[in-house]
Amino acid sequence: MSALRRVAVVGSGPSGVYTVQALLERDRSGALAVDVLDRLPCPYGLVRYGVAPDHEKIKSLQHTLRGVLEDPRVRFVGNVPVGGGGIAPEELRGLYQAVVYCVGAAADRRLGIPGEDLAGSVSATEFVSWYSGHPDAGGGFPLDAGSAVVLGVGNVAVDVARILVRGAAELRGTDMPQAPLDALARTAARRVHVVGRRGPSQAKFTTKELRELGTLPGVDTVVREAELLRDPRYADPAGLPAPVRRNLAVLGDWARRPDTGAARRVDLRFFLRPVAVLGTAAGAVRAVRFERTAPDGEGGVRGTGRFHEIEARWVLRSVGYRGVPLPGLPFDAATGTVPHERGRVLRDGVPAPGEYVAGWIKRGPTGVIGSNRPCAKETVASLLADADALAARPVPEADPLPRLGGEGRTPVPWSGWLGIEAAEAELGRTLARTSVKISDWPGLLRAARASGHS
Ligand code: NAP
Repeated sequence: MSALRRVAVVGSGPSGVYTVQALLERDRSGALAVDVLDRLPCPYGLVRYGVAPDHEKIKSLQHTLRGVLEDPRVRFVGNVPVGGGGIAPEELRGLYQAVVYCVGAAADRRLGIPGEDLAGSVSATEFVSWYSGHPDAGGGFPLDAGSAVVLGVGNVAVDVARILVRGAAELRGTDMPQAPLDALARTAARRVHVVGRRGPSQAKFTTKELRELGTLPGVDTVVREAELLRDPRYADPAGLPAPVRRNLAVLGDWARRPDTGAARRVDLRFFLRPVAVLGTAAGAVRAVRFERTAPDGEGGVRGTGRFHEIEARWVLRSVGYRGVPLPGLPFDAATGTVPHERGRVLRDGVPAPGEYVAGWIKRGPTGVIGSNRPCAKETVASLLADADALAARPVPEADPLPRLGGEGRTPVPWSGWLGIEAAEAELGRTLARTSVKISDWPGLLRAARASGHS
């Protein structure tokens, strides 16, 4: 690896930073220089813009990621989009001996049912982006709706349900931007239905996240025993993995717990497959229609021909993330990933010299943050196995930095990000809160410039 000098990692979320870490750990030469490019002026990807603001412990992972990005062999270059309006993969390939794409899965999966796009039906990822202060996030959520339906029973569904019923007073101590905090304070949903199409033993949420729902002050978490009993594995969970058994135990406890009549409640529902989002004459959501399902004996479900409606003016589709194609890189639309072989990008089925992938764009949007570490290690092992050939690839001696920005766009270096951090701490002070996120592009770029980097 001694001759490998210049590598770019695209994306500074967990998969990007774990890739950098794996590269640094194996670098014995000290000659390696890694540029970490991000289209945002801020690092950390979904740790900053996906982990719920009230999950401070998970968010504190930023300190570990920061240590990697502050290594002298690493240079963070923000505000640099790659592909589609930014520098093309083809050009990057000419500037670096190897490029590792760690761009995640930026879109949401579709349900493919009528009414999915009615006003008031949004993807949970849009809502997460909004309350996380992502500068590209939209708004316009029907926050005055007294109830909401969340489709899907994964950790994102649990996150959005919790944020909806949690009081603003509890969220004030987080870094949530002031505008969503104020909006949630005025209009927190009173009743949130979280609905799974399969049974409780197939739910995707993890026990820690599930349990937390049951500890929220002033919130009833409601489970119907009849829906648990319909799951054959609920009666005999012996053969199930321990995490699933733990989920079932928590749900069973809740089913037996008395309803306290709390003002806010989360209804966890199972065996209901969404078949249509129903609208008003004006085109707004009024309810979701479900078909009741029953276990098919093989882990899936079959329809029963019986239907059920849940009324709500707000639907949050929380059925998983989806990778989006990066112009100039191959893409498999069926899986939403870049075709690869142990992290080597495949072009027409053949490994493309110098191009790699790691994280969700490599393996799909599954697993917890830590799952990105072995994934990154596998990619870096492939890259290092190719090191001799990569080192022989001719790249210009000159610093690639001036080529990265493009028209009218000034890259934001690490010092610029530190400027943003300082401005967010200052904003928090003026609001008598902890650090508060800046959530608009002009504000972020102004804060980055104020650090004096350009
Ligand atoms: P997920 O875990 O894949 O869950 C998606 C849910 O949507 C599943 O319940 C799935 O049901 C359901 N679904 C999919 N297609 C559907 C359809 N057509 N109709 C109805 N339901 C459908 O996705 P996620 O919640 O977005 O999470 C993504 C990843 O991020 C996960 O690995 C998650 O653990 C992770 N994450 C972790 C945390 C945390 O650790 N605190 C927080 C947020 C996210 P089926 O199982 O029946 O397909």
